[in-house]
Order: sequence, then structure tokens, then C-alpha cells
Amino acid sequence: EKWVYRFGGGKAEGGAADVDRLGGKGANLAEMASLGLPVPPGLTIVTDACAWYFKNGRTLPDALKAQVLEGIVAMEAETGRTFGGSAKPLLLSIRSGARASMPGMMDTVLNLGLNDETVQALGHDAGDARFAWDSYRRFIQMYADVVMGLDHEVFEEILEDEKGRLGHDYDTDLSAVEWQHVVGLYKQVVEEELGETFPQDPHLQLWKAIAAVFSSWTNPRAATYRALHRIPEHWGTAVNVQAMVFGNLGSSSATGVAFTRNPSTGERSLYGEFLVNAQGEDVVAGIRTPQALTEEGRLASGSDRPSMEKLMPETFREFRAICDRLEAHYRDMQDVEFTVERGKLWMLQTRAGKRTTRAALKIAVDMVDEGLLGEEEAVTRIEPPSLDQLLHPTIDPRVERVVLGSGLPASPGAAAGEIVFTAEDAVEAEAEGRKVILVRIETSPEDIHGMHAAEAILTTRGGMTSHAAVVARGMGIPCIVGAGTMRVDLRNEQLLCPGGIVLKRGDTVTLDGSSGQVLRGNVPMIQPELSGDFGRLMVWADKARRMTVRTNADTPQDARSARSFGAEGIGLCRTEHMFFEGDRIQVMREMILAEDEAGRRQALARLLPMQRSDFTELFTIMHGLPVTIRLLDPPLHEFLPKSDEEIAEVAKAMDMEPGFLRRRVDALHEFNPMLGHRGCRLAISYPEIAEMQARAIFEAAVQAARVTGEAVELEIMVPLVGLRSELDYVKGCIDRVAEDVARESGVEIGYLAGTMIELPRAALRAHVIAETAEFFSFGTNDLTQTTFGMSRDDAAAFIPTYQRKGIIEQDPFISLDFDGVGELIQLAAERGRQTRANLKLGICGEHGGDPASITFCENAGLDYVSCSPFRVPIARLAAAQAAI
Ligand code: PEP
Ligand code: MG
Repeated sequence: EKWVYRFGGGKAEGGAADVDRLGGKGANLAEMASLGLPVPPGLTIVTDACAWYFKNGRTLPDALKAQVLEGIVAMEAETGRTFGGSAKPLLLSIRSGARASMPGMMDTVLNLGLNDETVQALGHDAGDARFAWDSYRRFIQMYADVVMGLDHEVFEEILEDEKGRLGHDYDTDLSAVEWQHVVGLYKQVVEEELGETFPQDPHLQLWKAIAAVFSSWTNPRAATYRALHRIPEHWGTAVNVQAMVFGNLGSSSATGVAFTRNPSTGERSLYGEFLVNAQGEDVVAGIRTPQALTEEGRLASGSDRPSMEKLMPETFREFRAICDRLEAHYRDMQDVEFTVERGKLWMLQTRAGKRTTRAALKIAVDMVDEGLLGEEEAVTRIEPPSLDQLLHPTIDPRVERVVLGSGLPASPGAAAGEIVFTAEDAVEAEAEGRKVILVRIETSPEDIHGMHAAEAILTTRGGMTSHAAVVARGMGIPCIVGAGTMRVDLRNEQLLCPGGIVLKRGDTVTLDGSSGQVLRGNVPMIQPELSGDFGRLMVWADKARRMTVRTNADTPQDARSARSFGAEGIGLCRTEHMFFEGDRIQVMREMILAEDEAGRRQALARLLPMQRSDFTELFTIMHGLPVTIRLLDPPLHEFLPKSDEEIAEVAKAMDMEPGFLRRRVDALHEFNPMLGHRGCRLAISYPEIAEMQARAIFEAAVQAARVTGEAVELEIMVPLVGLRSELDYVKGCIDRVAEDVARESGVEIGYLAGTMIELPRAALRAHVIAETAEFFSFGTNDLTQTTFGMSRDDAAAFIPTYQRKGIIEQDPFISLDFDGVGELIQLAAERGRQTRANLKLGICGEHGGDPASITFCENAGLDYVSCSPFRVPIARLAAAQAAI
């Protein structure tokens, strides 16, 4: 079996297409090597080896070891160095690299191969003993942490003590001899803490480090990240073993990261940061604040420290040319890492750069204009759920801002909340329903939970590529980093702002992630304009799309915002929701609680005008587009009082005797209301309800047609049908009322009568039901509930456990269960269309706004999807991608 793929010297085994086996980092290193770019030679151990490792009691296959050793021989030939050699030692970096990028989640070991002997050789060869001892102490610290499990803080303490003793402020102040002394102390603490000496055999170091990187695939941080990003556990990680190059060999050496375009705005200009005389991890860790790459970047940040463009003009020119080449090759914005070793440029990584949605749109649209992408390809470049970021509010420009401080605008949008200083507090506050802003000096992967719980993130240290910035952009929440004029006082849980202002935990601030400003209090915000790049891309998406996108809207306000987001009709109006507001619920309760038909009719007579005016407004807003009104489908328990206090209150409001009310509530009590007297069952028991609703609908349609001059495309939908005879009965009521209203008004309203398919029996009997139904709308909330036999209101108690234990991958109430529920949909669609070839098919369950489910609907041949207003743009884009 082939466990190892080599790269270097202008060639590589494998390339960008082999990301499943080589992981993202390995695949792109191979690709860059094949392009002839300066990549230190190395090898990639495939992801399958990770699975093997865990299956075989955390051991490595012998064939793998042999192949790694062959690879090292090739690296030795290429570099003229020897692994473990006592003249020119070859040092290695050992890095993880999964199929999907998991920034900072897994472990890395640098400078591997150093020991008491090779450290001397390295110093001699480099002509810099200080560098060699500094590298050795870094290696001991990393290796002891990653491989031996000794916390890195013990080493930091030793170093701090030493610096104090020697009177040094910075690490860079230590001399070779002083570093050598620190190395001695490090080795000593390893022995004291672990009872074993620091390993001197480079080969032993190598196998242990490879094993440790594999092991880090299952560390809690990585597991959490995978769960959040739906990365399957069985993927495993690849391991990259690569010849070290050094950015810490003096002032002509450097290390940095760059985006080929601005990841926040999408602007076409090289964007990045670097540190002189530093090693790779220093930039991302945010420990030293880096310098700008370009002069433009330096000016924008107002820094007086020179840019790379100024400091190393030759190397910078070469670097810029490589970036251009990579972008043209991948036809996408790249995020690269590089090192300059004594003036010689080395590329260490390239990958598609994470970006804000705004930047993603601008880049996709610009690349079409630049001729790099076609319109349809550009449409596929945007993740549909990410459009949500655009719908985020921004600060109302008309309000006055009280600026408390500012930093770098790392992730756009605005959010307000109470200040908390720890991830734990953020999680706790969110659980209590409070909105929080997480304030940290800098964030680390340990803070991920808190970052998810927060509305926005503020750090006082670090640059645009720091952990906080990268993660927040990925999550689409506002973020400000490097707010250096503000100071976090953790002990007293305070944020000290310029001008002596002190904010305490719990104080409210607003972050403007687009300007980098921290504002006092809860500042008014506005919804953003959906035009420009977004508008252009959506035009291309709409062109590519086959299915139409409707919205689930119960109120005129829903309908209006859905229209502004591009909804092409209403796919579901839940009429019972129209009665949740104000004193309407009282009339609704009277209707439900009525003891006889006369009482019910009295209440219905009062409900009629309310419904009619709501429908008129909806029809007017939708102006000739299709509107599906669903007849009442109230799980009764949602409308009735429960506790004694509630009963007393409602009885008073309804001028009723509490004892009587209690008896009626008891009489109506259902053990399983979701499977109870719901949907069409109610209309069959009490046809006067369906008649009132049908009347309100038709009379409203007559009125709206007079106002708009355009007849609404009316669809009346009967819920929870399992039997054709149920639908026949209810449709009979609807048709009778339609005739009555036509006679009374002199206006004939065209309409379709159809049904929801939300019970397995309805799906199975679709060919029979379609004899009556003129359309089907898949109610996948109930269809999931009834297919699985899992209560949709109770499933949250056990679904997360199911996911954690790998019983199911995804919550079927969020993303359609293709195999089971999906098969019922397919079958119902086919059987329904056998009976009625032009049967209109749509979906109106929550899944109608979920991109994966939308792809399924496209393949099942549905005519439309319907989703909540804020998901309409997501659904438009997902439907387009499904059709491309
Ligand atoms: C459904 O069941 O999928 C549906 C849309 O109806 P409701 O959620 O109102 O039961
Ligand atoms: Mg339903």
C-alpha cells in the first residue's frame, strides 16, 4: 500500500485533486511543487494511515515507516543535509493537514531532529549558535507539550524567571549561552515532571511526533470543531513531514501570511502581515503584533514600522508574482504562508482563503469581470448559508456614536451585548438568553465555545489574521481585534478604555465590526441594502435556477420582507399564527372552547373580518404571485391556558367562570396533541371553521383583485390529510363557499385546492389523493416526525446524544433524511404525477430553507421550495447551485 506521497525539487506525487488522501495542506504543497514554486521538500502521509493508526492500537504500519525513510533520503539529497547528521543536520516540521481546514485545532512539531549533538552542528553550519539554541528550546517545548503531554506553561515560567534573573525584557535579548542554559533547565524539568530524559534519537522523535499528530485528531478541541463544522470523524488527518526552513535566522529572515485579496472587503490587493526574525507560529499566535506586507497596508493601518515591500523589495517582488500565479492557477483567492530564510523565499502553504460573505461576493463578481470565472461558476463559489451575514444589521448612520475605543475591523456587521471576559461566562449567559460580547486579550482554540455563544468578539491584541479574526469571519459574527488602546483587567473583570473610562462585566457595548469601533450602550441598527455585488450574483443565480422560491409568511410584515428578499409567492400561510397576537387569541379561545356549534359560529363571526383583512393585505402585497393559504392547523394546547393562574387570568378576560373554563380545558385535553384533533380533523368535526376561513379567503381575494387589478394566484391547502376521503370532505366545503361568494360578489376567483403531504399514509396513497388534490406541499416537519415516530417537540432531548454517539449524523428536523423521509417524498411525487401529470409540487417544512434539502428537492423534481423570509436569498442561491 502507498502510505507516503513525496514532493520537492519541482515535482510531486499527487496534486490539488488528491485532497481526500493528502489533506488540504499536503495536496496544495504537492501542487505548488509541481508548479515549480519554491517549496521545501517533504512528504505527506495519507489520511488512510490515520484510520489505520486508530484501528491498530495507535501504532504505525511498518510499510509506512519504510516509505517515510525513503522520503527522508530524498529530502537529504535535495537539501544536502542529513537527518540526525553531525555536520549539516536536516531538521523537520511535522504538521497535520485534514481534508477540511481545521485551523489551530491539531498539533504541530517544528525543528524535529535536534538533540545535544545536532544543536552544535546546526549552530556551526548557520554560523549562529544563538539561533541553534533558541531553535532547540522551541523544539523541546513543542515536543514535550505535543508528544509527552507536558503543559507548555511550565516552560514559559522558566523562561520568565530566567529573563527576570538576567534583566532581559524580550526573548530576543537572550544570548547563545543564556539559551543554552535555558535548554538545560527545560531538559531538567522534563525529567523531573515525567521521570524520563528528553529523547535524543531523531528517528524515535519522528515516529512519536507522527503518532502524536494522528492522536491530536481526536483531541477535544478538534472533536468540538468537527462537530460544529460537520466534519466526519472517519476522515482522519494526513501528516506532512517537511524540511525546515528558518524565518528566525536574523534580520534578512522573516515569516508571514497573506491573502491574495482583502478577506474582509474582497478588494483586489495583496493583504497580509509578517514578522522579521521569527518562526512560523509566531504570526498566527498573535504574540508579537506583526508588520504590514505592503506599503498600502502599512498606510491603512497607520503603522510606522516598515512594510515587507520596503524592507525586502526583491523578495517581496518575487512573492507578489507567486501570489498572482497561484491565484490565476486556482482561480480563487488564496491564503498563503511563507518564510524568508536569509533572503531566500519559501512557500509553506496555500489554500482557498476564508473570507467574509461581502468579500466572497466581490471576489466572485470581480473574477467574472476579470474573465477568470463564468457566471454560473461564480454562483457556485458562494456558500448559501453565508448570505445570512449580509442580512446582519449595521449601525444606523444617523445616530451619534460614543466611541469608547477602536481596533482593526476584522469581521463586519454590528452587534450589541453585555461584556463578558471568559468563554465560560459567554456560554452561561447565552444559555440564559442574554446577548454577550466576548472580550479577550486574544482568543485561542479553547475559547471556541464562548465565541459561538457571543454576538461579537473584541480582542485587545493581534492582527487581521489572528485566531479571533479568522474564526469570527468564518462564523459570520462581528469582530474587532488589536484594540490596543483598551486594556483588559481580568482580575477585576474590567475593560479600561482611553480617557479613564472603565467598563465592568455586564455593561452593554455595541461593536461595529465594519469600522472597528467600540460604542457605548445599545446603538440603533438598520438592515443592509441588498444590491451591488449581491444583486449581480443573484441575477446570475436566478437565471440558473429551475425551482421557484416562495416564503412561509403569516403576517403582512413577513410577506413584505420576503418580497424584498426576492420571494416569488407564499408557499405557506399558517392561519392559526394570525391569532397569536393581541386580543385575537381571546376570540380564538372562545371558538375553541365553545360548547356547541352556535357558540362556535358566534366566535367565528368575529374572526371572519380579522382573517379577511389579513388575507386582503397579504394578497395585495403579493400582487398576483401565488399564495398558499392553509386552513387552520392548531395543536390545541398552544392556545389553551394550563396552570391554575393562567386559567384564572383567561377566565377573567373572557368573563367566564374559572371552574367552567377548567372543565372545558380538561375536556379538550389531549395526551398527544401533535397527533390529536389537528389539521383537517378539526375541519371535519367542525366544518363551520373551514367555511368561515374559505369565505374570508375568497372575499379577500375579491377585494385584493379590485385594489391591485390583478387576480392573486390562489391555492387553498388542507393540512394533515391521510385519507383521500378527508380531503374530499373538506374540499367540498371550500368549493361550496367559492360558489356562494362568486354568486354574492359577481366575481369568480380561480383557485387550486390541494393538500399537505405530511403523513406517511398520504405519501403512500399519493396517486389516490391526487385524484382530488390539485397540488401537494410536503410538510416535512410533520413528515419527519411521523416517519421517524419522533416527537418534533421532544426530539431535542436525545438528538444531540444520537449525533455524539454517531447513531445519526444530522438532525433530521434540520436537514432532510434523504433515505427515509426523502424516499417517501420521491414516491409521493411520482405516484401523484402518475394520476395528475401537472400536479404542482412544493415543500414548506423547515427543510425548504436548508441547502442540502433544497438540492434533494431539485432532484426530486419539485416545482418550488418555501422557507422563512430571511432564508429566501439562501434558498435562491441553493436552488441555483442545485440546478447547475
Ligand atoms: C410541516 O409539518 O412541515 C409544516 C410545514 O406544517 P407545520 O410546521 O405548521 O406543522
Ligand atoms: Mg405540519
